[in-house]
Amino acid sequence: MDGYVKADFLVSSPDQVDGAAADVAASAAPASNETSNANTSSSNGHIVCIDAGHQQAGISEQEPNGPGSSVMKAKLTTGTSGVATGLAEYQLNLDVSQMLQQELLNRGYQVVMIRTTNDCAMSNAERAVYANESGAEIFVRIHANSSNDPSVNGAMFYAPSSANSYLSADVISASNTLASTMLSFYCSTTGLANKGVLQDDNMTGINWCTIPVTIVEMGFMSNPEEDQKMANPEFQAVIAQGLANGIDAYFGR
Ligand SMILES: [Zn+2]
Repeated sequence: MDGYVKADFLVSSPDQVDGAAADVAASAAPASNETSNANTSSSNGHIVCIDAGHQQAGISEQEPNGPGSSVMKAKLTTGTSGVATGLAEYQLNLDVSQMLQQELLNRGYQVVMIRTTNDCAMSNAERAVYANESGAEIFVRIHANSSNDPSVNGAMFYAPSSANSYLSADVISASNTLASTMLSFYCSTTGLANKGVLQDDNMTGINWCTIPVTIVEMGFMSNPEEDQKMANPEFQAVIAQGLANGIDAYFGR
C-alpha cells in the first residue's frame, strides 16, 4: 500500500463517506474529490462510486498492475480524443460522470466522485483503493473508446475474468453481472450497438478493486458519427439515463 493512500485516511463505514472524501482529497488529490449525499429522506440506501476516466495530464510513473504484482504499468494514460470534434476523452468522461452523478442523486443514491476537475493527479490504483474505502458498493469507471478503424462503433464494458488472481470469486462474479446488466440497459436506452462484455485481467483500476467494478466504454471517439453524438449534451443526458437504468437493475430496483 506504500505510496497510495495512508491507512489513517481510510474508512469503510458509509456514514463516514464525507470525512473520507475530505481526508483523502487532502492527501491524494487536492480539491478534486467530492462526495455527494442524496437527501436522506429519499435515500435508497445504495452508494455508487464514479470514476471519470483519465485527467488532463497523464502520469508516466509506473505502479504495480495489481496488489503484489511485479508487472508495472503507467499510473495513468491520457486517453483518446474525438476524431470529428477534437473533444478530449477526459473532458467527455467528466461531463458524463457529473450527469450520471446528478441522475443517481435524483434516484436516491449516495454518490462518491473520484474527480470533479480535470486538474488532478490520481493513478488508476489510487482510484481503485479510494473507491474500495469510500463505502461504495460498486465502482463504475467511465471511458470512451478508440480504434484505428473509423467504422468501428458501439459500446463495450470491461470486467475481470474468472482467472483473475487479484480478485475474490465473489467480486469477479458480481463485476460480470454489473457489466452485463449495465451494458444491456445502456444499449437499449441509447440505441448504441452492444459489442459485449470484454474480460480483461490487465487493468490496474480493476485489479486493485475489492468491490464489484466495470469499465464503461461508452462508444468510439474514432467513429465520426459516434464522436459527434457523444459530444452532444442532450445525448449525454441519455447516456446518463442508460447507465443509471443499468445500476437500478443491478440493485434490483
Ligand atoms: Zn479511456
